[in-house]
Amino acid sequence: MTSLENGINAFVEQIDTPIASFFNSCVHCGMCADACLFYTETGDPKYTPIHKLEPMRRVWKRNFTFWGKLAAMLGLSKPVTDAELEEWEPLIYDSCTLCGRCSMVCPVGNDITYMIRKAREGMVAAGHAPDGLKGATVRAVEIGSPMGVTWKTVQAQIKHAEQDTGLTIPVDVENAEYMVLMSSMEVVNFPEYMGAIARIFDQAGVSWTLCSDAIEATNSGIQIGSSDIAAQLVQRIVDGAEKLKVKTVISPECGHAYTAIRWEGANLIGRPYSFKVLHILEVLDELREQGRLQTEGMETAKLTFHDPCQLVRRGGVVEEPRRLLNMVASNFVEMPDAGVWNWCCGGGGGVSANERADELRLKVFSRKKAQLDAVGVETLVTACSNCRIMLEDGAEANNMDLQIVGMAETIAAHLPTKTSTTATEESSS
Ligand code: SF4
Ligand code: SF4
Repeated sequence: MTSLENGINAFVEQIDTPIASFFNSCVHCGMCADACLFYTETGDPKYTPIHKLEPMRRVWKRNFTFWGKLAAMLGLSKPVTDAELEEWEPLIYDSCTLCGRCSMVCPVGNDITYMIRKAREGMVAAGHAPDGLKGATVRAVEIGSPMGVTWKTVQAQIKHAEQDTGLTIPVDVENAEYMVLMSSMEVVNFPEYMGAIARIFDQAGVSWTLCSDAIEATNSGIQIGSSDIAAQLVQRIVDGAEKLKVKTVISPECGHAYTAIRWEGANLIGRPYSFKVLHILEVLDELREQGRLQTEGMETAKLTFHDPCQLVRRGGVVEEPRRLLNMVASNFVEMPDAGVWNWCCGGGGGVSANERADELRLKVFSRKKAQLDAVGVETLVTACSNCRIMLEDGAEANNMDLQIVGMAETIAAHLPTKTSTTATEESSS
């Protein structure tokens, strides 16, 4: 079998019952176009979500429909070629962040995001994926981190966090309540996350641990479109959590990591977990509800929240960040289209790991800029390190005067100081 046949066969194999039914039911209304920032910000019809799937539609039609099979037999339709797949690769990878907005508007219920993910599975099997994403995936499998972060680097961050906080960062502690995962971006770009968690958990009296065999939460397999690799990366976390016998694994401030470990992991590895999975925002909100998360003082700067697509729209963690921000911010305002209708930062779904897409990503940032301009805030809080880097990049490219921060560090900045706790105790005694 030639590599071309292999490639097309890989596409044919991706066409399952939902995909066939989605193609069959598309009424060509074009509503998905206006939901996609790549279309709205460029006006280019090639970025209409369903159009990004055109090669897959042709493979479906030729192989799965009566008229398509007949036309193929009579030589009236051309098969999809490898050259076409290569030409199509930027549409599948560079111009889709898997944000899920198009799936929300389709009047016949087509989950276009699911279709694009299946198309990526076919693309990878056919040997077509962006170099940046391939490199990140290889590093994730071989080193354990898409950015090549080793345990030695994490240990250096642990040391810094311990010096900054005066607390011990627990590692490989058995039977802890929580096992904390991190993303490489937090280790490299936002080391304050680890210290913030340590301080919050210390105040709340939470038992927790890092796992030296499973620190990385991100999952390049999900982004590139390889279920096998996605399963392998999830299995590492499952093995670590089960070895330490923890009760709950905490997904960090990262969007797609939550999708991978919370919503898809058990299906990927083919069995249920022996532990729960929560996002860090869910944990903080639970602690708030139990009265274990105490804060003091309020941010007075006008502030808003960027909803990470995988966490909010796709993951359902909508109210938790709002309840948390209302604890510490007196001037929290919502952007237009906030919550499940939020617009993507432009770099999700592996786009940020794909340098070829940088120019397009910064162009479509105009949608986020318009949202932010509408409220005119000084501070932007988010709960995904990838979003945060993309927002910083977009803000810099557009000369926007904006402070961009993570949720955990925002909360940690308002923890009561030990001194003030003592003072309160003394004054009430
Ligand atoms: S998932 Fe988001 S980025 Fe991808 S096609 Fe749909 S709306 Fe566009
Ligand atoms: S919104 Fe749905 S039905 Fe309309 S063109 Fe897009 S995929 Fe087809």
